[in-house]
Amino acid sequence: MHEMSLAEGVVQLIEDAAREQAFGKVTAVWLEIGQLSGVEVEAMKFCFDVVTRDGIADGARLEIIATPGTGWCMQCSRTVPMSEVFGECPDCGSHQMQVTGGTEMRVKELEVA
Ligand SMILES: [Zn+2]
Repeated sequence: MHEMSLAEGVVQLIEDAAREQAFGKVTAVWLEIGQLSGVEVEAMKFCFDVVTRDGIADGARLEIIATPGTGWCMQCSRTVPMSEVFGECPDCGSHQMQVTGGTEMRVKELEVA
């Protein structure tokens, strides 16, 4: 389950931010997860609960923002929505697609106390 190491990365980021900005507690985390990132939202929630235990974000609410996948269709010469990494163009059905968005996961916002 690679969500565990991703969740650890998120906690690391939160702790770094806490040191820099000198806040003592995180009460909510908004996490953007791209539709094409391969991250399972349910697994992520579970791992987040585990890795935040006894830390600065213990008990913090995790809000998931799903960002849509997008790709560049070489046939249509334009950006189209994509629901899977090796998907096809919803307009022309071509597989000559290049993924352009929705592959990343990042912390968008923290609510601190
Ligand atoms: Zn197309």
